[in-house]
Amino acid sequence: MLLAGDAAHIHWPAGGQGLNTGVQDAVNLGWKLALVLSGQSTEELLDTYEAERRPVAARVLHNTRAQTALARPGAHTDALRETMSSLIGCPDANRQLAAMITGLDLGHRAPDVPLPDARPVLLGSAADHAAADGWADRLHLRPGDGAALLVRPDGYVAWAGGPGLADALHTWCGRPTPR
Ligand SMILES: Cc1cc2nc3c(=O)[nH]c(=O)nc-3n(C[C@H](O)[C@H](O)[C@H](O)COP(=O)(O)OP(=O)(O)OC[C@H]3O[C@@H](n4cnc5c(N)ncnc54)[C@H](O)[C@@H]3O)c2cc1C
Repeated sequence: MLLAGDAAHIHWPAGGQGLNTGVQDAVNLGWKLALVLSGQSTEELLDTYEAERRPVAARVLHNTRAQTALARPGAHTDALRETMSSLIGCPDANRQLAAMITGLDLGHRAPDVPLPDARPVLLGSAADHAAADGWADRLHLRPGDGAALLVRPDGYVAWAGGPGLADALHTWCGRPTPR
């Protein structure tokens, strides 16, 4: 059973994170289900959904609990809220909290790479593209102009140059098509 959205992590709406988190659950899971249902990947790929999304949900629950605690009435919470307000005025603290709540502190996404047809994209050299020949029917192959990246359909970087391209292709793109 795979749970996404509020079915997996319902919480107080502080910070406006519920919808964002649920949509990202669906984007993480959708292409994995498609690969497994089409027979290109084994069910092990679905286990990566929980491994990747459960920590995100736990973190959102953690920070919404902290925000809920700050909303309680009472002189002690008033003092805590004022202390937090003054800290939020510091640019570094402000940046850290904003990045956490918006999810923009995730460093492993490639938001500027176009991902047409919900297919992974391999940016790389001719040699990288040749190494991915068995997966060419389900990948977009693009010149890397010096960069080497395998970007999943949900925008996550699955490989960033060096060894391990074949392993990443097996894990995230399923079985190679026999030639
Ligand atoms: C007051 C409030 C303010 C919010 N503000 C924000 C905000 O500013 N930003 C933000 O990102 N998020 C916000 N959220 C959270 C956001 O609304 C939810 O995270 C999001 O709607 C969850 O989407 P979902 O599809 O997972 O679940 P839901 O939208 O709850 O959809 C579940 C659906 O399943 C149906 N259903 C339930 N049981 C069954 C059944 N047995 N059979 C068939 N259908 C069933 C329900 O009728 C419902 O249509 C807020 C939530 C609340 C309550």
